[in-house]
Amino acid sequence: MISLRKNIAEMAGYVPGFQPKDEAAWIKLNTNENPYPPSPKVAEAILAEVGGDGANLRKYPDAGSRAGREEAGRLYGFDPSWIIMANGSDELLNNLIRAFAGEGDEIAYVHPSYSYYATLAEVQGARVRTFGLIPGRWELDGFPGRYAGKLLFLTNPNAPLGFTFPLSFIEELAGRVDGMLVVDEAYADFADENALELVRKYDNVVVTRTFSKSYSLAGMRLGLAVARPEVIAALDKIRDHYNLDRLAQAAAVAALADQNYFRECVRRIRETRDWFSTELRVIGYGVIPSSGNYVFASPPDRNGRRVYDALYERRILVRHFSDPVLEHGMRITIGTREEMEKTLEALKEIG
Ligand code: PMP
Repeated sequence: MISLRKNIAEMAGYVPGFQPKDEAAWIKLNTNENPYPPSPKVAEAILAEVGGDGANLRKYPDAGSRAGREEAGRLYGFDPSWIIMANGSDELLNNLIRAFAGEGDEIAYVHPSYSYYATLAEVQGARVRTFGLIPGRWELDGFPGRYAGKLLFLTNPNAPLGFTFPLSFIEELAGRVDGMLVVDEAYADFADENALELVRKYDNVVVTRTFSKSYSLAGMRLGLAVARPEVIAALDKIRDHYNLDRLAQAAAVAALADQNYFRECVRRIRETRDWFSTELRVIGYGVIPSSGNYVFASPPDRNGRRVYDALYERRILVRHFSDPVLEHGMRITIGTREEMEKTLEALKEIG
């Protein structure tokens, strides 16, 4: 008989987006991956790090991922002591909960957004509260004058809906939470604004970023956070000491250093997103203006599942959520212009 902790025995676990085996046969628009390869400098840096005979792999990586912190610090205008590198931003979300919320403590997030926050809290034995959105108003449903929970996660741009909260609203929230405000900026590189300045202004604001979307490196597992040095020091205590392998560290530095490539890649995705959104509206879809690399779109009959299934039959994979506030639509990742043209044609056919 194994005797698991009660919360682990009872929890369901997180189910990531479906990854088909015969990927080439699909137009894959379901996990917000980038359709373009990373900067060519990334593969060069990885190969150089491997070394001709792989001899470098014999040695442990730099436990502090210092080169990555320095490169990110230069890019964002922060001292490296304000930055931590991670094995995907999921690692940071996990360690933030471990650092700030003990068993029985409360954490919260905005619903709908990234449900993995709830899974991580369940592992910790923390309680989870959600605050809904109030349509047409920058307010969270039922949010108290002061929030006493340990952490509040705000996904900005919102996923899966794509809109951004105004910075003034995020700033107001920072002043109303006793605990930490974590602004999950997984998609902020595709938006006009971000909350990095609030990290300087408020000691309880943390911003997390990922390399999985805008830097085309979902397969490398890379993320970073910007926060006060005291918060970074706490996260450093908790993480695996070698959380980033040598290849990931080399990839992170090379990707951050090639800003020309990055900017062009983001520009193309934004251009395709805006074109695709306009075309969807022409065929009668409801589309929320998006600041991410995806759009949330609902067909005229508001039957998201029907269209999801019809796209699936045509080997086009998008994301449908059965959550009552999301089931009327689909989250469609922005692929290449050609992929989106094919998707649009399929949607016209499906009707
Ligand atoms: N936050 C949000 C809102 C996301 O959508 C994702 C990707 N699923 C993540 C964080 C995690 O990203 P990463 O690949 O860096 O772990």
